[in-house]
Amino acid sequence: MSQTVTKKLMLFFPKCECEKPIIYHLVKDHNLIVNVFRAKVTPEEEGYLVLDVTGTEDDIQQGMDFVKTFNVSINYTSKGVTLDEARCTHCGHCITHCPTGALYIADSATREVAFNEAKCIECLACIRVCPFAACASAF
Ligand code: SF4
Ligand code: SF4
Repeated sequence: MSQTVTKKLMLFFPKCECEKPIIYHLVKDHNLIVNVFRAKVTPEEEGYLVLDVTGTEDDIQQGMDFVKTFNVSINYTSKGVTLDEARCTHCGHCITHCPTGALYIADSATREVAFNEAKCIECLACIRVCPFAACASAF
């Protein structure tokens, strides 16, 4: 049996495709487990979904091939939230608000704050609380 993997993806929808039941088909027809972190799907506007998909490499590939037939573009880089090193003062304020430990103290001596993108669920809490606008969202 093929091993399952989890991939974080961003799907960008053109104006006309937002109401298509894409997630439903990913689950039902392509055997994928889908975990949506963030979505902006408004009729008559461009939209996006930030999600994890879990399944075999083949099922994920076939699911993404299906998605592309709707003229949806896929971003595999998972760069939804970023930490701007130049702006960050390492004040640590965001750490208590980050629910997953994606923002953490990397060095206990210097109290340097670091960002582990793989742990980020894009809740956007850090963006709201950072006094220096060091955390930002691509959307
Ligand atoms: S709150 Fe902003 S400036 Fe402070 S450590 Fe977090 S990202 Fe850096
Ligand atoms: S978006 Fe949420 S999970 Fe990601 S780093 Fe910011 S507070 Fe943590």
